[in-house]
This record gives sequence, structure tokens and C-alpha cells, in this order.
Amino acid sequence: MTSITTADQLDVLIIGAGISGIGAGRYLRTHCPDKTFAILEGREASGGTWDLFRYPGIRSDSDLHTFGYEFKPWRDKDAIADGSKILGYLRETATENDLDELIRFNHRVIGASWDSAEALWTVEAETPEGARTFRARWVFAGTGYYNYDEGYTPVFPGRDDFEGTIVHPQHWPEDLDYAGKKVVVIGSGATAVTLIPAMTSGPSAAAHVTMLQRTPTFVTALPREDKIAQALRRTFGEERGYRLTRRKNITVQHWTWRLARRFPDQTRALLRKAQVKALPEGYDVDTHFNPPYNPWDQRLCVVPDGDLFKTIRSGKADVVTDRIETFTPNGIRLASGQELEADIIVTETGLNLRLFGGIPMTVDGAPVHFPDTVVYRGLMLSGVPNLALSIGYTNASWTLKVGLLCEYFTRLLRYMDTYAYDTVRAEADPAMPTRPVLDFAAGYIQRSIDEMPRQGDREQWQTSTGFADDVRLLRNGSVYDEYLHFTSAAADPTAAADPTAAAEPVEVPAVAEPVEVPDPTTAANPTTATEPVEVPDPTTVAEPVEVPDPTTAADPTTAAEPVEVPDPTTAAAPVEVPEPTAVAEPVEVPA
Ligand SMILES: Cc1cc2nc3c(=O)[nH]c(=O)nc-3n(C[C@H](O)[C@H](O)[C@H](O)COP(=O)(O)OP(=O)(O)OC[C@H]3O[C@@H](n4cnc5c(N)ncnc54)[C@H](O)[C@@H]3O)c2cc1C
Repeated sequence: MTSITTADQLDVLIIGAGISGIGAGRYLRTHCPDKTFAILEGREASGGTWDLFRYPGIRSDSDLHTFGYEFKPWRDKDAIADGSKILGYLRETATENDLDELIRFNHRVIGASWDSAEALWTVEAETPEGARTFRARWVFAGTGYYNYDEGYTPVFPGRDDFEGTIVHPQHWPEDLDYAGKKVVVIGSGATAVTLIPAMTSGPSAAAHVTMLQRTPTFVTALPREDKIAQALRRTFGEERGYRLTRRKNITVQHWTWRLARRFPDQTRALLRKAQVKALPEGYDVDTHFNPPYNPWDQRLCVVPDGDLFKTIRSGKADVVTDRIETFTPNGIRLASGQELEADIIVTETGLNLRLFGGIPMTVDGAPVHFPDTVVYRGLMLSGVPNLALSIGYTNASWTLKVGLLCEYFTRLLRYMDTYAYDTVRAEADPAMPTRPVLDFAAGYIQRSIDEMPRQGDREQWQTSTGFADDVRLLRNGSVYDEYLHFTSAAADPTAAADPTAAAEPVEVPAVAEPVEVPDPTTAANPTTATEPVEVPDPTTVAEPVEVPDPTTAADPTTAAEPVEVPDPTTAAAPVEVPEPTAVAEPVEVPA
């Protein structure tokens, strides 16, 4: 693949300057330094999700040791971090990798068409100065998964009768004054459980906040700070400490998710036990926190240091599980007949799913109909040449997957360079059975499932939910296989022979240091996992290891990190990996 250097003709055009786009830029810089690329960002600022959402208390659900990039240690003491810190981290990544000058802000992509004869994408963008056209060999869509323009709000009867203020968290008014007001938050997702403690604390605290939900969500407490991570950093330094914490968290996340799926009843019971302990005596846990579905059929919400439970305990907030009959001038009337008074109603009713930034695409003049395509290795679409997309995990930190996708993407580019290919197209077996690309039952996914690409039934075509599987497939596995079809519009006679035809295929090695994680399908118990969690040797710990706050660490679902901290004065044994069923899930899924 010859490099393109003409202005506005690039090797790679990245769309979106969020976690995915900035990450892709950094991987290109490091692994393919000769490639020309630019990042088109529709908004006036970078950061994507972390710049768009401005509601009080906005924070991650994931720990930043896995939500951060593999190549850049997360240095803050908070493992579950505020949006502003995440935004700072992302922008620092862009600056450190000289990406700032490559980001074209206010460039909203409105169309992309592929021409096989030229082996080029033509990409149209709207800018304040008018339309601009870019041409690029590859498009990397780091456009996230939801519609930026509008969140999802169902039709509420009587909405227009309400005399107070209605707000959607995706469009939080900067000047919204809720001090001393009565607030109802409709919804029970990550945003609702974040908003409630945030809106009831500080000088601008609301008088009272009610979380009104139709169906409960699994909610579990996790510590904001990870004491083990801090100890590892002190002991092994920034880089190594980060790597070790990351490995620990990947392992724990992997196991807790798998075991929750395998032992749903036990997981439910453990979550319930922790909630009963955290909430006021006699609290109706079964009505408000015991969902009708199994753990991880839908998201599991994390509340740092149990802040939501503490707020409910304080009486500043409550949870109501009921159905809305109608909005009224003063609030909401429920199916049960109860009336909730409100000055402000927050509709935390979700996102509108939208892949590829809603960009219409054509291949040689034919429109790409996403439901007719199948996702290959989580990165490409069948039948669509030279298009990479970046969709992270829904059952673990998004960025873990984005990093692996970017690694594979850059390996593919280098492979194509080696053999002078300029086009690659993934072709699915037409007889392969397919199903929706996401199996997740969350409402926002189900609402749009018919507009999404599909997944198949073979490894390369399946939506992977496991980091270990993806390390095998994307980092350590062969770049090519029988599903990839390489061609060259302008063959380079000096290029190497086609490796797929060679007796001994030449492989392009992975660049990144492989992270080994135990294969969860082969180990029965995390305590016997083949790849133990690395811990500092307690005899060599330079500084005392901080022991988690005993008030939050007593219960596994509220423990600072679901791994016990060794007492440096006594510990000789390695860090205990929590019992499979006793661990709250520390991972995040998109709202
Ligand atoms: C409130 C909230 C909290 C979350 N917390 C977590 C968490 O703790 N852990 C986790 O793993 N995940 C979380 N998620 C999911 C989260 O969105 C992802 O983890 C991550 O931020 C996505 O990064 P991204 O770069 O892929 O997409 P985004 O952050 O959505 O960025 C996409 C970028 O593409 C740009 N773009 C889109 N379309 C176009 C176009 N047509 N032209 C030009 N530019 C375009 C957008 O403007 C945006 O800047 C959360 C999501 C939300 C909404």
C-alpha cells in the first residue's frame, strides 16, 4: 500500500476524536509512522462522550486502569474517575502524541464513498466554511455508538402540562439551578445512580431527589480508590505498577463477569446481601434493587463507595418503582395513584444508538446497508473495503477492546504494505447463519438492533466479549485468513510475493507486548487460574501498603478493590483472588 501524501488525500482518515479516534491516532503514530492521517471531529472539542456529557457528578463506571489506554498509565488516585479527569487524560494523550494539529474540529462527516478502481474513499464533511472533501485509502470510524444530537426520550402523556423544567442528561443546561428544589429522575441506569448523590450534596444541593424507575437495575458498590493499584505503583513505579494493576483488573473483571453469567442466582444473592447491609433497616430491596433479569443480561451499575446507598440512607433521596400514568402541572402521577411532586424532571431514559456516526456509505455506487453486513474481527464489515470501526466492550472497559482493534488495524496496514496491497475486503460465507451483532438486552440496543450489522458463528465473525479471546485473535493471531481478500489497484512490481499463496506464510508480528490473561473457559476457579495476579513481594515493599478503609472494605461488594491487600508486616502469601461468587463486577457497560 503506497503512502498517499497529497493534501486532503491521506492514508487513513479517522472520524471522531474520542477515546477511539485519539487511540487510533496514537497507534498509527507509533506502529505505522510513515502513514499520513487526519482526524475529523464533528464537534468543536475532543473527548467525545467525556466532553459531551456535563451532568452533575459525571464519572466512569469502569476503573481507569482498564478504561485508560494500555500505553499511558492512569496516574490519578481515583480508579473510578470524574469526567473532567478522563477528559484531561484524553487530551493529554492527544498532545503527547502530536495529534492536536491533526484534528480538524467542526468537521462533521456526512457521506463516504468507496471507489474500487482508485482504491480510495471520498469523504464529505460539513464545516463552518462549507463542504470539504477528503480522500483516503482507509476510513477508521471512531464515531462511538450513539446519536450525539438527541438522547432517547419516550413520549410521556401530559408532558406539556408540566410547569417545571424537563432536562435530558445528554443536554444538561449549564445554568440549571436545582438548589433547594424537588427533583425526579426518571430512570435507573448509570446516569441516574450518578446524578442522585451528586445532586443531593454540596451548596447547590436539591431539597430532595426521587429516582423513579419502572424496572430495577443491579447496583453494586465499588471503591473509588484502588488501594492495591496505589501500592503497586509505589512499589514498582508508574509504568510497571499500572501494567500490574491493569492485568489484575482484567483478570478479576473477566472472572466476575463469567461467573456471574454462570451462577446468576448466587450472584444475585450476594448483591442483595450487600444491598441489605448498605441500605436502611427494613428497606424494600426486592422491589427497588432486584431486577427480573439475570446479572449482566443488562448493565450492572457501579456506585463508588456506595454513595447512592448512603444518600438513600440519609433520606435526601428515595427510589420509587412504578409506572408513569401522566405528567401533571406539578409533577408525575403514577399508575399506583401516587403523585410525585417535582420542580425539575430529569429524563434519564437513554441514548439513541447510532453506529458510524449516521454516515451514509457507498461502495462503487451501491449504498451500504448495515444489516446486510457481518462484522469481521470486530473491526471490518463484510463487503466494505478498507473500513475499520471501533466498538468497545459492553461487558468490560470499552478501551480494552479499542486498543486491541487498533493493534490489529496497524498490523493489517503493515502487512498490506509488505505485499503492496492497497485494498482488503472481508467476505463472509453467504451460508453462514447470522444474528444481531450485540446480544445485550439493554433497551437502547434492542430499539435499534434491526439497523445494526450482524455477527456470524465463526470466531472471526463473532462478537467477542472476552479480552483473552481477543488477544488471541487480534494481537497474537495471524493477520490474514481465508476471509480476507487482498487486491492492489496499482501493483508494485518490487513487492514481496503474496504470502497467502506461499507455502510458509510470512507473518507480520504484533508490536505490543502481549498481555496474558487466563483463559476463563479452561480454569474452574480464579484462585487456580493459570495466570496468577502479579502482586508485590511483601518482603520487598518499600513503603507500607495502604489498607483499605475498613468501613468500606468489610463487604466484598463494597471493598475498595475486590482483591485483598496484603499486610506488609505479616503477609507472606500472595494476594487473594476473591471467591468467584463473592465479587461485585467492577466493569462498565455503555449507558
Ligand atoms: C455517560 C456515559 C458514561 C460512560 N462510562 C463508561 C465507562 O465508565 N466505561 C466504559 O467502558 N464505557 C463507558 N461509556 C461508553 C463510552 O461512550 C465509551 O467508553 C467511550 O467513551 C467511547 O469512546 P469513542 O471514542 O469510541 O466514542 P465517543 O466518545 O462517542 O466519541 C465519538 C466521537 O466521534 C464524533 N463523531 C461522531 N459522528 C461523527 C461524524 N459524522 N463526523 C465527525 N465526527 C463524528 C463525535 O463527535 C465524538 O467526538 C460511557 C458512556 C456514556 C454515555
